[in-house]
Amino acid sequence: MIQLQRWQHLFRHSLSPLIPLEHTTLQQHRVALYIKRDDLLHPSISGNKWRKLKYVLRQALSEQAAGLLSFGGAWSNHLHALAAAGHTLGMPTVGIVRGEPEYAANPTLSDAQGWGMQLAFVDRQTYRRRHHADFLAELRRRYPGFYLIPEGGSCELALPGVAELWQELPACDQLILPVASGGTLAGLLSARPEHTHLTGYAVLKGKDWLARTVQQLYAPAESDNGWRLRLNHHGGGYAKCSVEDRSAITALSTALGIPLEPIYSGKAMLGLFRDIEAGCYPPDSRLIFLHTGGLQSARSQVS
Ligand SMILES: *Cc1c(COP(=O)(O)O)cnc(C)c1O
Repeated sequence: MIQLQRWQHLFRHSLSPLIPLEHTTLQQHRVALYIKRDDLLHPSISGNKWRKLKYVLRQALSEQAAGLLSFGGAWSNHLHALAAAGHTLGMPTVGIVRGEPEYAANPTLSDAQGWGMQLAFVDRQTYRRRHHADFLAELRRRYPGFYLIPEGGSCELALPGVAELWQELPACDQLILPVASGGTLAGLLSARPEHTHLTGYAVLKGKDWLARTVQQLYAPAESDNGWRLRLNHHGGGYAKCSVEDRSAITALSTALGIPLEPIYSGKAMLGLFRDIEAGCYPPDSRLIFLHTGGLQSARSQVS
């Protein structure tokens, strides 16, 4: 009962500002660009993770789960957000982390442990089994009654929370966002206004499977031609960023007056600007860029 009240309080409103951006590139190509600052949604449950977790957590509460368990890398925004949410709701959390126990001292995992998250480090080979039924069964035995959440929080229950974002947006031609596990894109697609198209910038080497992942989360995506993935702006792969790209992102961040990190928001914004310069967006387009948050992970970046 108390937990449900805490849940209601945590998700009581989702007002993040929408801000117009100015840049010579935008002027030259007559593109109007706004940014939806979901990075400002909540101080510790950042951006799209706040939206994705909303109904997942309500489900876990209604099942009276003993705790919450999920998966992520050592700088995972998802595990960071889950730990903070568990702390707020008074639910134990477990993070299955890819990598060495030395990572436990980094800022992301230090925060998570400070919020009471119990960490279990696994090697890459084990981590690859995170979707396998036998591995999940093993975890269920080890953490009885825990509610298991997939990596990045991407599951069907993540979609309705993300879909609510549309209620906060004005009409636009395109919504632009970074894409990793596809849950945010799938959620947005599930409530896409007829005249708004979606462009997702893959921040990892996505190829065909990324579109399939989106379709697995939201089957009608397959026959919806109002969205596309830009697959050539991953910059070498997940969390990889060349020195040149890194300084281009810093320059963009300064010019726009918006904080960007190189893993998600910076990579997607850089891809968007390169595409605008290449004429991929017609003149007089009205675009909204979704800042998905995740600035906490930049504390760990060696620059
Ligand atoms: C997790 C995350 C994403 C990717 O969202 P998906 O739903 O996995 O595609 C994008 N941006 C930030 C900041 C994130 O933390």
